[in-house]
Amino acid sequence: MRVTEIFPRRKTLSLELFPPKSELGMQKLDQELERLYALEPDYISCTYGAGGKGLGKHMELLCRLSSDAKTIPMTHFTCIGSGKEYIRHQLQSYLDIGVDHILALRGDLPNGWSGTRGDLQYASELVSFIREAFGDRFTIAVAGSPEGHIECKSIESDIEFLKHKQDCGADFILTQLCWDMEQFERWLEKIRAAGITMPVDVGIMPILDQAATINMALSRNACVLPRKLCELITRHWIFPNPFDKNPYDEEAETKKLSFRKAGIEYTIEQIEQFKKMDVSGFHLYALNRYDDVAYIAQQAGLLERN
Ligand code: FAD
Repeated sequence: MRVTEIFPRRKTLSLELFPPKSELGMQKLDQELERLYALEPDYISCTYGAGGKGLGKHMELLCRLSSDAKTIPMTHFTCIGSGKEYIRHQLQSYLDIGVDHILALRGDLPNGWSGTRGDLQYASELVSFIREAFGDRFTIAVAGSPEGHIECKSIESDIEFLKHKQDCGADFILTQLCWDMEQFERWLEKIRAAGITMPVDVGIMPILDQAATINMALSRNACVLPRKLCELITRHWIFPNPFDKNPYDEEAETKKLSFRKAGIEYTIEQIEQFKKMDVSGFHLYALNRYDDVAYIAQQAGLLERN
């Protein structure tokens, strides 16, 4: 079964995991996987370390997902720093373990790099390469940036390049996190007007932790923090700041818990708004945190499959 066969029938639920670095983390995730399968995700995607870092654990997790056969495994893959021969070999390794869904990415350029230092410069070239080398054997997702990718000259040019990924053979879009709902809706209208017909699977970053939320907004993504979300952070502010490892705020622990509770409610509300838009699925960045993700999926009605 391909994810693209499910989209026309109903909205999908999918999860994103990252391969833990340690053996202990891997064992813990092993146990969590059974609980995640109980949510019946249509697919689970596994992130790819920048430039192929941690490839062993990445393949181990994909092997486990594939052999369990409880969901469709999808790999993320970036082309930075890689020649075509390596890419072909790695893609074949995915097929060999039964993984034929891929999120084709360029990857973030490390500081000081002006290009990918590999044979392919953009995700669109990777999509073309996959189609040339493997025909239709892969279902290909590509990244979409509702606020525009951080390096793009304009949102219009970014959308043109997204359309190019479709023309090169991509099957669906998985979006970057976006907390600005008005911008997301505007972007959806713009991509459809630009002739992009691919299904849009919306990436949802649960709000669970103040420091992580601020980091996400200010890091490479540079995404907008809407006023309501800023107020949420301010209301639960931990003094001197949420990044301090030893805060002097006596209420720090209580504030962390109450922020998480409010953040989960915020995330559920956001999903309710996405449901009213032209999206084909919900992709929860699960952050390997089963309990919160299961609760969000259940409360947001994502476990009801009609
Ligand atoms: P591209 O589509 O190639 O776009 C990159 C930039 O180049 C954009 O600004 C675009 O406008 C511009 N551009 C595109 N084509 C052209 C052209 N022909 N000429 C000029 N400019 C052009 N990274 C990881 O390392 N591992 C992961 O597992 C991972 N998972 C991700 C999951 C999701 C859902 C998303 C959204 C991102 C993920 N990333 C991951 C991050 C991703 O690698 C970065 O966002 C990266 O900087 C861009 O990748 P891309 O595929 O969007 O690149």
